[in-house]
Amino acid sequence: MRPNEFALRLQQENLYLKRKEITTLQVNIGKLCNQACHHCHVEAGPKHPDNMVLSTVERLLDLLRAAPEVQLVDITGGAPEMNPHFRYFVTEIRKMGRDVIDRCNLTVLYEPGQEDTAEFLAEQGVQIVASLPCYTKENVEEQRGRFVFDKSIQGLRLLNSLGYGQAGSGLQLSLVYNPNGHFLPPGQAELEADYKARLREDFGIEFNQLFTITNMPIKRYLHSLEREGELDNYMQLLLDNFNVSAAMGVMCTNLVSVGFDGSIYDCDFNQMLEMPVSGAARNVMDIEHLNDITHRIEIANHCFGCTAGAGSSCGGSLT
Ligand code: SF4
Ligand code: SF4
Repeated sequence: MRPNEFALRLQQENLYLKRKEITTLQVNIGKLCNQACHHCHVEAGPKHPDNMVLSTVERLLDLLRAAPEVQLVDITGGAPEMNPHFRYFVTEIRKMGRDVIDRCNLTVLYEPGQEDTAEFLAEQGVQIVASLPCYTKENVEEQRGRFVFDKSIQGLRLLNSLGYGQAGSGLQLSLVYNPNGHFLPPGQAELEADYKARLREDFGIEFNQLFTITNMPIKRYLHSLEREGELDNYMQLLLDNFNVSAAMGVMCTNLVSVGFDGSIYDCDFNQMLEMPVSGAARNVMDIEHLNDITHRIEIANHCFGCTAGAGSSCGGSLT
């Protein structure tokens, strides 16, 4: 595949990716995590030193106060709950009346010091998005490590007991599926129906929606493709399944992503590839307003991961 294949493919369709209004701020609050999953595009782990400091958190809060158009703050990690400023950040954002997503790996709820995290999230009305790449123990543990499945089920039961995923509670619980292999996700609606039936029957678990996410050919997943000699095949699969409608709705057209050190990126994937936004406004410490960030989007061939099949974003399929 040529280095600029994605740009050429967009050109063929007369498409030009440009950020419109920023309505979602995605914040990677640190790469500290209690797990170290094989597919993790962040390469997070229990000893990772990168964690957002308080001055950066305060700067983000100031920028949010000045930008009412940002209605959703999507907090990722690592395990975001392990950052010492996580609760302060969430509480202040909720005081502004904005929605918050916590991308929770579930097992963190059972780490020392996290005993009341689930209650905190429920009290604050935080939306939870949790990875559960399958409803069977075998598949989950192949991807995410031993003992993860039982703890995840325990975590989901705890969240259900607090009202998450239950009709009328207003506490949103979404699950994330990503393929446990080098293929595209199946249809989101059909898989959601399977998940709902199996998790209800086997474990009595309820949740609101399933997001299917394509494995991005970056970081740990890229290394596994290379190790197995499957990189060319996987990139060809993504290219062959390029979908114009998905390309028109990629998430970078209405969000920016901020790293633990305040650096600004077009999305979490570009962040992991250390591809910052272009222009002078590249760190939240250097801008007065989120509007100072360029509308240009930095693209490369990993972007095929967002545009293949039904499309993929942090909020699931795009079409
Ligand atoms: S739980 Fe999430 S952040 Fe942590 S290692 Fe696994 S994929 Fe990465
Ligand atoms: S990888 Fe990032 S920059 Fe590329 S299309 Fe997806 S969201 Fe946009």
